[in-house]
Amino acid sequence: MAATQRTCYACERTFDRPRARCDCGEPLWLPIQPLAEWPPDPRVSGSIWRYADALPVAQPPGDLEPGGTPLWRTPSLDAYAGARVWCKDEGRNPTGSFKDRGSAVGVAAALEAGYDRVGTVSHGNMALSTAACAAAVGIDCTVLVPADIASDRLSAIARFEPEIIRVRGDYGRLYHDALERGRERDIAFLNSDVPRRVAGQKTLALELLEAGPDLDAIVLPVSSGGNASAVWKALLEVRAAGLLQDSALPRLYLVQAAACDPIARAFRENETIVKALSEADETIAYSIANADPPSGARALAAVRDIGGVVVSVDDDAILAAQTRLSQNAGIRVEPASATTLAALRKLTARGEIEPAERVACVLTGRGYGEGGAEPETTVVDRSDLSTAL
Ligand SMILES: *Cc1c(COP(=O)(O)O)cnc(C)c1O
Ligand SMILES: [Zn+2]
Repeated sequence: MAATQRTCYACERTFDRPRARCDCGEPLWLPIQPLAEWPPDPRVSGSIWRYADALPVAQPPGDLEPGGTPLWRTPSLDAYAGARVWCKDEGRNPTGSFKDRGSAVGVAAALEAGYDRVGTVSHGNMALSTAACAAAVGIDCTVLVPADIASDRLSAIARFEPEIIRVRGDYGRLYHDALERGRERDIAFLNSDVPRRVAGQKTLALELLEAGPDLDAIVLPVSSGGNASAVWKALLEVRAAGLLQDSALPRLYLVQAAACDPIARAFRENETIVKALSEADETIAYSIANADPPSGARALAAVRDIGGVVVSVDDDAILAAQTRLSQNAGIRVEPASATTLAALRKLTARGEIEPAERVACVLTGRGYGEGGAEPETTVVDRSDLSTAL
């Protein structure tokens, strides 16, 4: 594949050189390439590089092997969810989220193209992931974070020693500013929905298909729409290869936090474009609180093509689902990921998903350990252990 070609999902224009957007305004991706080999050779590694066929770049030297995360069958969540639940535990990736899949491919491609610096715009997982992948192969990294970033996230990112620039002002616009500055300064910006990040993140859906419980539905939190685009593209490439009939492809359900749900609103209003929210409320699901999603329309197109809906869930439902995941299934997730179980409960209650259906909740990230008040615990002197125990 000519790695410089880009195509538009919406109007099908093709460009020979990378550029930020199509003339129609929509984001571009690498051309749809039918999968050549399925399933991959069982002897090949369990990381993202298992799907080398579907990736635009070869594995570089260095410790860059995300992916291969477990898909747990979690019957202990079935009653709460109202369907048969599988949990895709993306918190098991090296820096704790699926972003490592896209960062690894983006960093590998930047190395191959001769860049000595990558960058990203993020207030959490993507910054952490990009900085870690850059460190793993010895390339520099710049991250642009909002000036008011939480200190636990800032110190987690700083551990990989990227250049950190805290930016005051419109965070949504920063996505576009960074891509432009990156071209001027020769920094490969790996923002949320750039073609190579999308390419790497396709491996999440390929793993779900390969694991083979014949899923009826995938439930995925959505923010920028980059990851929803990746899942869609993977399904399109499987479909284009004639590997699975349309009826065998899982439906795609996207979830937002009710406090900041521009894509879910557009879906409810039957729109094909997503209007940026001028005012969004705070939510505990901070990783998915993008008021102006750059791939929002593409996420909508994905759901309409594959079948499914976009829903939003409120913070109380998210917290309750997060508790169920830890208490019933022993899985730690950040609130953004708990939205999937909350959404599944809502969708089964609405009859959108049937009790016998097999559903994968994509638990996108493990989080930083924050959230919630300090639990009530007992402190005793060692000499009093016999009275306390
Ligand atoms: C980035 C992120 C998302 C949203 O992914 P997008 O590609 O921005 O839609 C969901 N959950 C977690 C934990 C994330 O870090
Ligand atoms: Zn277009």
